[in-house]
Amino acid sequence: MKDVDCAGGPRADGPRVRLPVVTGKPLPVDVEGASAGPLTDGLRRRISYLRISLTDRCNYRCTYCMPEAGIELAARADVLSFEEIEATVAALKLVGVARVRLTGGEPTVRKDLVELTERLARLGLEDLALSTNGERLLELAAPLKAAGLTRLNVSVDTLVPERFRQVTRRGDLDKVLAGLSAARAVGFAHTKVNCVAMRGFNDDEIGALCRYCWDRDFIPRFIELMPMSDGELFYPGKFLPVAELRATLTRELGPLLDVESGEPLPGVGPARYAAVMYQGKLRQVGMISAVSEPFCDTCNRVRLSSTGQLHACLAYDDAIDLRSVLRSGLTGDDLTDRLVQVTRSGLSDKRASHVFSQAGCGGPRKHMVSIGG
Ligand code: SAM
Ligand code: SF4
Repeated sequence: MKDVDCAGGPRADGPRVRLPVVTGKPLPVDVEGASAGPLTDGLRRRISYLRISLTDRCNYRCTYCMPEAGIELAARADVLSFEEIEATVAALKLVGVARVRLTGGEPTVRKDLVELTERLARLGLEDLALSTNGERLLELAAPLKAAGLTRLNVSVDTLVPERFRQVTRRGDLDKVLAGLSAARAVGFAHTKVNCVAMRGFNDDEIGALCRYCWDRDFIPRFIELMPMSDGELFYPGKFLPVAELRATLTRELGPLLDVESGEPLPGVGPARYAAVMYQGKLRQVGMISAVSEPFCDTCNRVRLSSTGQLHACLAYDDAIDLRSVLRSGLTGDDLTDRLVQVTRSGLSDKRASHVFSQAGCGGPRKHMVSIGG
């Protein structure tokens, strides 16, 4: 159980919620289709990046991501087919969505991931990336590279095997590290290693994780713990704000510098990446400060759940129902136009910002394992 009650306390029906299905909102009459230029939201933020959750299933059970009892899984019939995913990506690409990331749950547990990667790569995206826990990377790195995947993010919260098993509830660190090496060997460059920073768990490994990554040309990225699942998996005592992370990085590794110029960074600020001089070279470190230093004003992304619900914001439960459009019987240009229309309409009221709090309140009921980060 979480160790804080948000206003109103935990919801009576508990955390075992399905991703809500909110059907497509009525379209304003003047909304145009694929021909109407780049996709923007009501605040004129340009939307160019799509994260696609391929499944809500996972071979791990990370403590901050999935409730111990598991979640109520989506019915298989509701999960988008490869054809439906491809049609959605092709439609949104026409209006400027050029970067796509495949995520989960764990995307590598989706059957025929390599085939889907090939199909999406043929669409000619600028970037086709994958977020994975790395458990199956050893066997999949080469075929994914050959299929046209351009980049990888791999989650590694700790380099201590017992801690790794504890946080993932079943993961094998050696296997994941072997997968990372395999990815490098087959030519994946600039692989990001994602680490959820947690006080009292891995805050003594910040320097070690950076050195591990830089020695292998990976880029470490530290993520603030976010209060998903109605706050049920969030422990305020474990929350490590990015300001503290910056202080730790500076103490252990040296001054944080501007990535572009190599000049010292101000103590606080919007920097998402910093550079550190390490063994004579400037090395990068990323920080995702969603909770303590939000960056919503520059948000450029939307998220598609495995069941075809397009979430304008990670931090709210409402969604645009693209599955019903995909299954409406429309085909070809009519389907493309309708997908774009419904997306445009839904994004017109994308929220200005989230209201995540460091106490664990303000988050959505949906689980990170369902929407994919
Ligand atoms: N299974 C893949 C993986 O672990 O990388 C992809 C999905 S996972 C949900 C995507 C990212 O979200 C991971 O880096 C994970 O550590 C992060 N994540 C999950 N729950 C989180 C939470 N409550 N707060 C912050 N990051 C979280
Ligand atoms: Fe699975 Fe990734 Fe969530 Fe861990 S963080 S439970 S690996 S989806």
